[in-house]
Amino acid sequence: MLTTAAKPYRVLARAYRPSRLADLIGQDALVRTLGHAFGSGRIAQAYLLTGIRGTGKTTTARIIAKCLNCIGPDGEGGVTAEPCGVCEHCTAIAEDRHIDVIEMDAATQTGIGDIREIVDNVRYAPASGRYKVYIIDEVHMLSQQAFNGLLKTLEEPPPHAKFVFATTEVRRIPVTVLSRCQRFDLRRIDQEVLAAHLLKVATAEGAEIEPLALDLIARVGGGSVRDALSLLDQAITLADGTVRLDQVQAMLGVVDKGRVVELLGHVVEGRAGEALALFGAMMAEGGDPRAVVEDLLGLCHRLTRDKLDPNLRDPDLEVLAQRVGLAPLARAWQVLLKGLEEIGRAPDAIAAAEMLLVRLACMGDLPSPAELMRRLEGGLPAINPGPATAPAQTPSPAPSAQIAPPPARPTPAEPAPPETAPAVLPAMPQDLPAIVRALRVGGEPLLAAMVHHNARPASIEPGRLRLNWLPGTPAEASSRLAQALQRLTGRRWGVDRAPSEAPTLAELDAAHRQKRMVEVRDLPHVRHILEAVPGATIVGVETAGADSETQASTLQEGIGTP
Ligand SMILES: [Zn+2]
Repeated sequence: MLTTAAKPYRVLARAYRPSRLADLIGQDALVRTLGHAFGSGRIAQAYLLTGIRGTGKTTTARIIAKCLNCIGPDGEGGVTAEPCGVCEHCTAIAEDRHIDVIEMDAATQTGIGDIREIVDNVRYAPASGRYKVYIIDEVHMLSQQAFNGLLKTLEEPPPHAKFVFATTEVRRIPVTVLSRCQRFDLRRIDQEVLAAHLLKVATAEGAEIEPLALDLIARVGGGSVRDALSLLDQAITLADGTVRLDQVQAMLGVVDKGRVVELLGHVVEGRAGEALALFGAMMAEGGDPRAVVEDLLGLCHRLTRDKLDPNLRDPDLEVLAQRVGLAPLARAWQVLLKGLEEIGRAPDAIAAAEMLLVRLACMGDLPSPAELMRRLEGGLPAINPGPATAPAQTPSPAPSAQIAPPPARPTPAEPAPPETAPAVLPAMPQDLPAIVRALRVGGEPLLAAMVHHNARPASIEPGRLRLNWLPGTPAEASSRLAQALQRLTGRRWGVDRAPSEAPTLAELDAAHRQKRMVEVRDLPHVRHILEAVPGATIVGVETAGADSETQASTLQEGIGTP
């Protein structure tokens, strides 16, 4: 304990930042192509690095700057794929102080003025290096005017100037600019590759970690080395000895993604019984009902995006993405979002979450508007009398009573799937729990965990958050949080440190859970199901399928209970 506490805190993501092309994890194509090109002195005028956040775009850009300017330990070297790391240029670039390597963040410097400065200076020869290297991050954020200014330089660049652009949204870059760049797509890093890298780092740090815990970190890292290393950082700091799976799960406040995928599969395909059983197991292991619903929401969002953009496809979600349509996902999203609010107000969050799951599962039985019209026209019952838990539209005695004549107006088409993924946030978060929820739903599990466990809130108002980070929180936490909130809410956020002794959300949760454990022992599942589904009755065990049979007999038992 004492030795661990005395160990100086290092940020792993920084300590293990790659310094040569060959050190880049999981980017074999880029490493090979650039390696050959630099080895044989073929240098493009401009490079464009694309890929999701955390795949190493700016790291790669800095390595390229080193490759172009390294002179080797003896000062005689030329452009190389293996920068030495010790010459004046390599060290200056590593310390962000090379006079000829100019970095610009287009997210904050979007205007023509910022570009004009570059354009005006680009013709002057480099002061100390071989090349002037302009690194423009988030280049898609430049204004049209700024792009036009840049284009003039790209059309007739002086031979001593090189450009490295990085972007998460390549489609927002004008074709005229694209066509003048050599483009590399940085890949989301494979989970196995990432896990192997994490193991290497953990071993180098002298930390023990369970393989399953490692897998979970790699999975939640979402293909980003930086995020995964930050998670590993936190896990090692929190753990007392070996890092265990349950500790990592608790730290993230999320349950295993695989189980959330399974749970969503159950509800969108109408298997209420399986959904409740799985949810019950997750709760028994100390899961947080709100976190599960948030994970379901996040998953709906990711699945929708996966379906709309093949570039984003997540192999873990492939099977479910193929089975579930866009319209059911959009409906599930709406119901979950509304349910999340209800869970916040409900006296018993677990019961409220169960009701929500049942409602979702029943919704899956309802035909889509288009299907409904087809059935009506074909003389079939509008609503399938089907499984025992299927809700009737009205408490009418028989399903056949619902057959209605087709309306006179033209058949409405099935609602078009949304063109883009649903908005991440319906409203501005007003308190710290809302911020954590927003981060989880918006695909920022690491930040969500950091705020949940490490932040003592001082004050919060829309656009401004003041909090006291616990010791050991990564230094960039505030700026990362501000960026994420800006992305999720569409407005600028300031995040500042301020003194506060308020409890963290994790501390509050622990207190609540203790209280709830005492209050709630048994959960009246079946009464909830009957209440959740207006007009539901038990339609007879002998005619129903195996799934419904189990549910139906459970229902009967439930009714027998006073
Ligand atoms: Zn060097």
